[in-house]
Amino acid sequence: MSSNQRIYNFNAGPAALPLPVLETIQKEFLNFAGSGMSITEISHRSKWFDDVINDAVLRVKRILKLDDRYHVLFIQGGASMQFCMIPMNLLGSGDTADYVNTGTWSTKAIKEAQSQGKTITVVASSEDKNFSYIPKSINFDPKAVYAHITSNNTIKGTQWADFPDTGGVPLVADMSSDIFSRPFDVNKFGLIYAGTQKNMGPAGVCMVIIRDDLLARTPKDIPTMLRYTTFSESNSMYNTPPCFTIYTIQLVLKWLEETIGGLGKMAEINREKGELLYGFMDQSGFYKGTAEKDSRSLMNVTFRLPSEDLEKKFVAEATANGLGGLKGHRSVGGCRASIYNPTSLEAVTALVNFMKEFEKKNS
Ligand SMILES: *Cc1c(COP(=O)(O)O)cnc(C)c1O
Repeated sequence: MSSNQRIYNFNAGPAALPLPVLETIQKEFLNFAGSGMSITEISHRSKWFDDVINDAVLRVKRILKLDDRYHVLFIQGGASMQFCMIPMNLLGSGDTADYVNTGTWSTKAIKEAQSQGKTITVVASSEDKNFSYIPKSINFDPKAVYAHITSNNTIKGTQWADFPDTGGVPLVADMSSDIFSRPFDVNKFGLIYAGTQKNMGPAGVCMVIIRDDLLARTPKDIPTMLRYTTFSESNSMYNTPPCFTIYTIQLVLKWLEETIGGLGKMAEINREKGELLYGFMDQSGFYKGTAEKDSRSLMNVTFRLPSEDLEKKFVAEATANGLGGLKGHRSVGGCRASIYNPTSLEAVTALVNFMKEFEKKNS
């Protein structure tokens, strides 16, 4: 298949990757860096792979402006594994943590902490309005070890525009679906985690950024593979890491820095994409965004049509027109356009043009 037969991909995850990254993978696939082998065939203990993982870590540190207190780890088990690893590593007996519940993924994070018998407090929730907004003026416990938030709610289409003031308690954030989409002050955060299949690569690994003070809490009496220090002490190679995934992440980060021009530029493009799509929806009586305006996500745009039949027809016709992945999450229905970093302004423009046509024919 040639690249001009590729569709506009609005999948929520695994999701679109930048075309130049895919082309590099294709070009290098049979003979990686002069090794005479594919990246999927070389040893993770080789100089070739060392260069890949070290460059990936270096780029993460540079892009997010991380100082030496922060460690960048790659851990398998996805973001879902972090729901259990975070309380397991950070909360000892007598410790407490605060959680904000903003949707499906926060709910799961809360459940995993509670099922281990950890003491946590849900300090705010937007469940009363079907998770359509981000709670404001939250009272955090100054004695909590950490305060957990989900920075972008992939399924409900909401996103924290500004991060909350916790009064110095370190934030722990699930950034699976908006990492590297905008600049932010990392110093408020003690731990950031992101499953890589939304905004930074293929599935197979979760990136964890952890600060020294939280790393120091890791107990010694939990299983080796569930301990953060196991990964920080081995450059994420205590056992075999998913080499291909990490290699692709390295290429995506290189694309972000060298082709896009960094996080500031990326945020500008993402804002432009969001304004185009939300701007169109706001003047249409046909499409209705499900998130409250000040809580809207620039990554996952969730919306409804006048009826479920029309939604089905919309998704089917869009697919037939080369616009894929617009069906809402199976748990909420409706429609969703995921417009992560690799999804271009051109793709969003094509979507808006299709939406206009569809509205004309069906309203
Ligand atoms: C997709 C997603 C997850 C789950 O990620 P897995 O890697 O499949 O475990 C968790 N949190 C958020 C915000 C997500 O978007």
